[in-house]
Amino acid sequence: MGVEPSALMPLYALSTAVASAMGVVAWRRRHVASLLGPLAVVSMAIAVWSLASGILTWIDEPGTARHLVATVAFVGVCVVPAGFFCVSQAMADRAWRLSRRTLLLLAIEPVITIVGTATNFWHHLLFLPYNPGTGMSEGGPLIWLHLVYTYGLLAVVTMRVFSSWLWGPRSQRRLYGFTLLGAVAPLIGNILNVTQVVRGVDLGPVGFCVTVVVIYFLLVRLPLYELVPVARQNVLDMIDDMIVTVDAPGRILDLNPAADRLVRGLMPELPARLAGLPMNEVLCDVTLGEGTDMDRVYLDYKGSGVDLNVRISSLRDDRDGHVGWAVVARDITALNRQRREVEQANARLHEQRRELEQANARLHEQLRTIELLRADLAEQAVRDALTGLHNRRHLMVELARLAAECAALGRPLSVALLDVDHFKQVNDRYGHGAGDEVLVDFARRLEETAQAVAGAVAARYGGEEFVLVLPGVDAAAAGARVEALRARVAAEPVRAAGRLVPVTFSAGVACRVDGQNPEAGQRLEELLHAADEALYAAKRTGRNRVELARGLSSPGVAA
Ligand code: GH3
Ligand code: MG
Ligand code: MG
Repeated sequence: MGVEPSALMPLYALSTAVASAMGVVAWRRRHVASLLGPLAVVSMAIAVWSLASGILTWIDEPGTARHLVATVAFVGVCVVPAGFFCVSQAMADRAWRLSRRTLLLLAIEPVITIVGTATNFWHHLLFLPYNPGTGMSEGGPLIWLHLVYTYGLLAVVTMRVFSSWLWGPRSQRRLYGFTLLGAVAPLIGNILNVTQVVRGVDLGPVGFCVTVVVIYFLLVRLPLYELVPVARQNVLDMIDDMIVTVDAPGRILDLNPAADRLVRGLMPELPARLAGLPMNEVLCDVTLGEGTDMDRVYLDYKGSGVDLNVRISSLRDDRDGHVGWAVVARDITALNRQRREVEQANARLHEQRRELEQANARLHEQLRTIELLRADLAEQAVRDALTGLHNRRHLMVELARLAAECAALGRPLSVALLDVDHFKQVNDRYGHGAGDEVLVDFARRLEETAQAVAGAVAARYGGEEFVLVLPGVDAAAAGARVEALRARVAAEPVRAAGRLVPVTFSAGVACRVDGQNPEAGQRLEELLHAADEALYAAKRTGRNRVELARGLSSPGVAA
């Protein structure tokens, strides 16, 4: 069966137009994917081949014109297999780039063949001289070499795509598969040519044009659609959360590897196929219900606990009908352990803080005790142990302070020196203990007198001698107060050792008005000395008396 060559004209025209358009589009987008560059070159070569083949169907007569067009057709013929080789490399490896070496190697055969075709009229190595008997030129020896090379290269290309289809990434399998299907078109064209169903015309470019279009559309459309479900599946496979899909009656439809590992860890005797089992046989205690969010503890077969956070949501179809459940479980064992550790650490911290606070309180208490003891000691240091009055040392400090104060304010300062009369006899007659009691009683009365005057100080000067300091009190007033005391003491015997002990005392009073002497220390000694002299005078003049120092008028009261 033969086909009239001119009948194939529209086919060539269509192939030329489509391949040209394909070439332009692929070239423009060559930066998007590495195989678009070689695909553009192949498309342009197919366009040239189609156009030349179409023109050849017009030119019946052998001659220069036919020879030229045939040479142009051979440019396409030679470039197409080399181009497809590059396309297949880029398809199998996205990072593939055409190296200079590969380009040179791939160019050798096309250059020889094209130059051979152009110069065929000299050597007739590619085509034998025109045979008017058959009406065509038979192929020469070189054309066979060319055919072997071309088919060999196309076989390599096909094998490359085929092996990618078999072993390449799953997501790209449809690309390789459909590419192989696309390669059927030139194969059919070739078979039609070889079996001479179509004679005199070359169906190659039309077939390859189909292949190119198929590859282009696969490249543009397929990966996106293929990648989404594949990516979803991969994410489900990789994720650590357990995801179980359950149908409306509660039977497992599907579970991801994490869920599979978990339930088998809990129950190793489960069957190989879990799909179809009731959900609550696999994860008991989990009630299917919308919005469920619960924490459960399971024991694995080794007896160690697994804490799970289980969330359940309803799966709905396009018409919002309930079709099942998505159960998402997360292993929160480590999280819970950490939480417990943090809580324990907090409790320990709390306990330590409480202990610290207690230690602090104890320390405060001890400090308070120490402070009290210190104050007590300080008080003891200034007090006389027997009578509780200020001792002599403290008297001197207080006296200096009061003297300075009175001097600054221009006030008088009186000092009385008091001595119990015949105290030795008291001791002798009533005993030393009774003597002590007399001293204590006397001190109490002296203190009462001191308290009647603001800032006054009563002190035990030593033995049975006492001092009364009266700031702001002049000699007369001081003498009167001491005199009043003397009268009271003399009038009320002291009860000591169960007996009434009559007690009297003699006193000397001295007074100082500021500015009398320049040296404060000296002034005080003089003041005490004056009081002592007055006391001596009181003793001398009969005891139980109060005498004012020389230069001062006496209170005028005597026993
Ligand atoms: P005068 O009237 O001249 O002061 O005679 P007096 O006996 O009071 O004086 P003298 O200085 O001779 O004696 C003082 C006595 O006071 C001597 C001592 O034993 C006694 N005495 C001193 N301190 C204490 C004391 O703390 N307790 C007792 N019980 N007696 C004391
Ligand atoms: Mg004395
Ligand atoms: Mg005395």
